[in-house]
Amino acid sequence: MEYARPMTTVRALVLERLNEPPRLHEIEVRPAGPGEVRVEMRAAGLCHTDLSNVRDARTTPLLLGHEGAGVIESVGDGVEGFEAGMPVLVCWKVPCGSCRQCSAGRRHLCESVQELAEPRFFWDERPLPPLLNAGCFSELVVLPAAAALPLPDQLPLEQAALVGCAVATGVGAVLKTAQVEPGSRVGVWGAGGVGLNVVTAARMAEASTIVAIDPDPIRRELAVARGATDVFAPGTEVSGLDYAFEAVGESEIMAEALGALGTGGTLVLIGAAARDAILCFHPRAFLSKQQRIVGCIYGSLDPHRDLPELLGLCGEGRLPLDDLVGRRISLGELPAAFVEPPSEGVRTVVIFE
Ligand SMILES: [Zn+2]
Ligand SMILES: [Zn+2]
Repeated sequence: MEYARPMTTVRALVLERLNEPPRLHEIEVRPAGPGEVRVEMRAAGLCHTDLSNVRDARTTPLLLGHEGAGVIESVGDGVEGFEAGMPVLVCWKVPCGSCRQCSAGRRHLCESVQELAEPRFFWDERPLPPLLNAGCFSELVVLPAAAALPLPDQLPLEQAALVGCAVATGVGAVLKTAQVEPGSRVGVWGAGGVGLNVVTAARMAEASTIVAIDPDPIRRELAVARGATDVFAPGTEVSGLDYAFEAVGESEIMAEALGALGTGGTLVLIGAAARDAILCFHPRAFLSKQQRIVGCIYGSLDPHRDLPELLGLCGEGRLPLDDLVGRRISLGELPAAFVEPPSEGVRTVVIFE
């Protein structure tokens, strides 16, 4: 098959095989086609989902990375509203607009994604699929124009990058998925990039109690600074919550969070569990207490409606970003971060030179 030319050679992080550390390789990126943009990545966060794909990616080889920001490098035919040099956020979940859910106005439940007409990355002469339709650990990415959201000029790109996954997921989980009411008692397990944003959004939703549970004392302090009313190390008994958010992705923690709910309580699953993980719970108590368990992807957001609003809140300082940026590393240092994820700070961010 013939693909659009000329290709551009860039460095990117490729997962070659499951359960082996990903490595940097030179890959080929094709030009932006009709309706597409090509983005020079400037910053990309290392999210739990990137790490967990090493264990359970659906396909390999795979280009990793899905939380990033960059600047428009070029635009394809028919694309309006973008020009070279414009800062953009990468959105990894763009509703297709035509499936049953999208047609019914439930774009956050889209059962598909916006597909590109042709593969965009190539490695070893073969198409290289990107994780979550993004592939942010590449110096250059091709995206459907709808997956690039213009960023306000004043937002540093290393901070803005995190809005694309951690902020969107954590804030959306509270405001959209759960729709937490004022006066609610909220708990969050895991005070990382997502969990800290659950705390902030619970504060915005005027929750009366916000409990954050995390083994790391520094993260517990950050949770307090963002408005948590109580912080605990794991294992502390918590009860009577209206909403419990599990942002770790482990069955035992989900069970603990479920056990902390009171009557009418809702457990929101945010953390990506292993594909073969199983959650056990007592259905009798669950039904007696009229509880609910809800899954949450991308904070149940409709990106084009909701992300500009979140970016506005970031600009106003109502959604802090600076405390999320932990270690800044180069693309060259990224493979080592997969072998031993840096412990300091909340989010490790790759800064592209
Ligand atoms: Zn993520
Ligand atoms: Zn759809």
